[in-house]
Amino acid sequence: MKYCSNCGEKTGGKAKFCGYCGYNIASSEEGKGTTEFVIASSSKRLLNLLVDYTVGALGGGFLVGLLLATIGLVSGNETDEFWTFVGCIVILAYYVSFEVIWGKSLGKMVTKTRVLMQDGSKPTLKAIIIRSLSRFIPFDAFSFFGNKPVGWHDSISKTVVVED
Ligand SMILES: [Zn+2]
Repeated sequence: MKYCSNCGEKTGGKAKFCGYCGYNIASSEEGKGTTEFVIASSSKRLLNLLVDYTVGALGGGFLVGLLLATIGLVSGNETDEFWTFVGCIVILAYYVSFEVIWGKSLGKMVTKTRVLMQDGSKPTLKAIIIRSLSRFIPFDAFSFFGNKPVGWHDSISKTVVVED
């Protein structure tokens, strides 16, 4: 078992990044000196979130409007739960499609960051789905308000966000 030399948490055998604090483990290993990846900062992660949620809200609003126009649901019968569900599906579909196809959401395109597995490989579909679902954990966004640039949706899915 390896331990992060920055925070002391256990790390996976092949992990290049600490899943707890985001520390670039590979860079500190003697002889390897890997600096190929730089973890994205907390401020970039917050900017990603703002951009993605703005896009999600606009895109979601657009989709909902389209849905209403299409099926003529203007009577107001629908419940709040229904719209919450629609919102969640929109957010999920948005992140999964962008991060699977391009390895990044629109926010990450703006901040020039991308998603990788902790071992530095391309993220798997499963990891992206877990990552996107983990965003619905209440207060996930607040998991960034600390010194570490790692959110729960990163650590749970064993992914990291790095600079391009
Ligand atoms: Zn660490």
